[in-house]
Formats: sequence, C-alpha cells, structure tokens
Amino acid sequence: MQQIGRGKMGIKDDSLEHPFVSEKVMKKAKSLSVAEITPTEWYVVGGSEPHVVIRSEDWECDCLGFKFSKVCSHILAVKIFLQEGEKHG
Ligand SMILES: [Zn+2]
Repeated sequence: MQQIGRGKMGIKDDSLEHPFVSEKVMKKAKSLSVAEITPTEWYVVGGSEPHVVIRSEDWECDCLGFKFSKVCSHILAVKIFLQEGEKHG
C-alpha cells in the first residue's frame, strides 16, 4: 500500500480510507465537482445541492451525511481533488 502524501498544512487525516466510506459514497465523491474558495475551504457541487467543506482541525461539511457519520462524499471529493492536484504539480 503506497503512502499518501501529507497535506500542505500538516493535517493528519489525508487518507481516503475511512470505516464509513462505502463504494457508493466513493463513487458519488468522484462524480462531484470541487471549486477552491480558500486554501482551506471548498465549494462542492454536483449533488442534490451544493455544500461547503472546511478543513481546520479536522474536516467539516454542512451536509446531513457528515452529521451522522463524520464523513461524506463532499469531503472525499475535496480529498480526491487535492490528491489529483498534487499529482500534477
Ligand atoms: Zn458533505
């Protein structure tokens, strides 16, 4: 298993792995579009409604899925977005 590079700000949880992440959530995450607002805030669209994901001490999203399981497709979408960015430059 290859090690995933750490975030630019040294936040510990950069992994896409999470006990609550199902294949379905991952698939949804890959279908979403991410737009950077600030280096720690992203606007995620493509689902039923847009959501804002924030990275501070930990990841946060304003959707219901996040409230229940502390992870959601929006946060995953941002993590994928960031990893893609790192790959290219
Ligand atoms: Zn969310």
